[in-house]
Amino acid sequence: MCGIVGYIGKQKASPILLEGLKRLEYRGYDSAGLTVHQNARLETVKKTGRVDHLVRAVDGQSLSGRLGISHTRWATHGSVTDANAHPHLSSDGRISIVHNGVIENHRNIKRFLVAQGYSFCSETDSEVLANLISYHYEKETARDQTRFVESVRKALKHIEGTFGIAVLCAECPDQLLGARRGSPLIVGIGDGEYLLASDVAAVISRTQNVVYLKDNEIVALCPDNFSISTINLEDVDPIVSRIDWSIDEVELGAHPHFMEKEIFEQPTALENSMRGRFAADGSTANFGGLNLSPQEWRQVDRLLFCACGTAWHACLVAEYLIERYARIPVEVEYASEFRYRNAPLEKNTLVFVISQSGETIDTLAALREAQRKGFRTLAITNVVGSTIAREADGGIYQHVGPEIGVASTKAFTSQILLSAMVALYLGRLRDMSYTDGVGLAEALKGVPALVDRILRENGHIQEIARRYSGYEDMLFLGRQSMFPIALEGALKLKEISYIHAEGYPAAEMKHGPIALISDRCPSVFLAPQTETFHKVLANIQEIKARNGKVIAVASESAPFPEGLADDRIVLPDAHEALHPILATIPVQLLSYYIAVERGLDVDKPRNLAKSVTVE
Ligand code: GLU
Repeated sequence: MCGIVGYIGKQKASPILLEGLKRLEYRGYDSAGLTVHQNARLETVKKTGRVDHLVRAVDGQSLSGRLGISHTRWATHGSVTDANAHPHLSSDGRISIVHNGVIENHRNIKRFLVAQGYSFCSETDSEVLANLISYHYEKETARDQTRFVESVRKALKHIEGTFGIAVLCAECPDQLLGARRGSPLIVGIGDGEYLLASDVAAVISRTQNVVYLKDNEIVALCPDNFSISTINLEDVDPIVSRIDWSIDEVELGAHPHFMEKEIFEQPTALENSMRGRFAADGSTANFGGLNLSPQEWRQVDRLLFCACGTAWHACLVAEYLIERYARIPVEVEYASEFRYRNAPLEKNTLVFVISQSGETIDTLAALREAQRKGFRTLAITNVVGSTIAREADGGIYQHVGPEIGVASTKAFTSQILLSAMVALYLGRLRDMSYTDGVGLAEALKGVPALVDRILRENGHIQEIARRYSGYEDMLFLGRQSMFPIALEGALKLKEISYIHAEGYPAAEMKHGPIALISDRCPSVFLAPQTETFHKVLANIQEIKARNGKVIAVASESAPFPEGLADDRIVLPDAHEALHPILATIPVQLLSYYIAVERGLDVDKPRNLAKSVTVE
């Protein structure tokens, strides 16, 4: 949440900051702003609304400075106004700051600073940091280059909460400072220039070499060098990583929206998630980074999966797949609940977390809580070098490329695919036969081609979407592993179409939701060919008997009664382990086309932002 970009180098800073902000806009789009250091002054422009508003506001201003910071906001404290937009200046005009996160003790700090004569002009928590740094700068005895960094260090020691920050000082024309705790921040090392950013999308057009800052680290960037130290004054040796994403992957190309681009990238993305991960004998999966021997895996009696949002739905699918194919009990918890719940966990439990960004704050906290209690942890993440990937004891990278659309699509199906591969791997360590292993592995290898076949149905699904785009309520129903996909379908629709939707186990609807059914509330039934197929048909009858419209997503050769559903989307016949991935594609397309039909901004849905780095 929230995008930060900072620049120091030989080029004019403002165009580079604005380009970076555009690439980070999916992280927050309430307001945008920048400060450029120029002629010993901090020139600040900020505006509510999209980065384009800021671009227009900056246009015509002579911002020629080569040092600057910028921000796109996802408001936590204070409404969406120009005054609350970042950057925030200290009341003496000396310090400018952009902040991602939440400063929990901002009220106490503010009270203290007001007593010291500082004034405030926003309702944000972030503004206290600008004034607090200025307060320490004033008091600092060092009068050399270290004065600025020491004042930031001292200020941060008083902060409770989370922050990723970039800071400028009017009196320091050659220094850009950054620091983080809980919110991501990276340093991009360019050719004669450095960048600071919340994620790699902002720097990728200028460099592929980055340093991922760790919690409680401060980086000082000068035109020709940089240094990292901790808040507690320890020096840090920077580790430079190379980003393997390309610039094309963060651009729209011929697609109108990132969401559409990412839906249609799924065959390739799934291929990339699987690449090199099947054992030579073809009967099991192979993961390089789990850091657990087969003997250690045999000690694991139970798995706990933790995640948020769409990734939590992937965990629910993982529960079905792992319990079914590996016969290991799985529990699933919302990370935000687990972190405060103090759940009694059995001794031989292994904790698995899933987060596309690897930065989701609640998931990170759940991981840390599990580690603190002495449990071994594994993570499925997409972003190489992300905090969760670094801190987990082992893990699996998704390798699906950057996901920019706020509504997760390719990351979700890849998380399910990797969970199925974990189920295969664990199954083969236990009771799954060689033959069954080969059967499941072969089926998984075929998933990209099957997804491709469904994507070719897009015209038909778009036509259905057109007819259903005017409804204000919808139900998504399915049994067994289709239940999490029903939840995901409802979430996708809510997120981008603002249509009220609920996902339920198909049989459960009789215990309440059926009261919603009328000709104004259609249902989407996820009904591939499984042992409960006929039960689902009965549930469809119950809806039809109450004048509810039905869209059925059903397998090609399933004996689906003619005329039972109002609309039907066909899934290719496939191994049951593949049903969750295959059934996801139509619900993604349905919600995408409905949102487009309603004229909504699919990639930047109201109130949402990608990568939730605040609690
Ligand atoms: N808490 C800050 C604010 O509300 C920063 C939010 C963000 O991360 O964008 O302005």
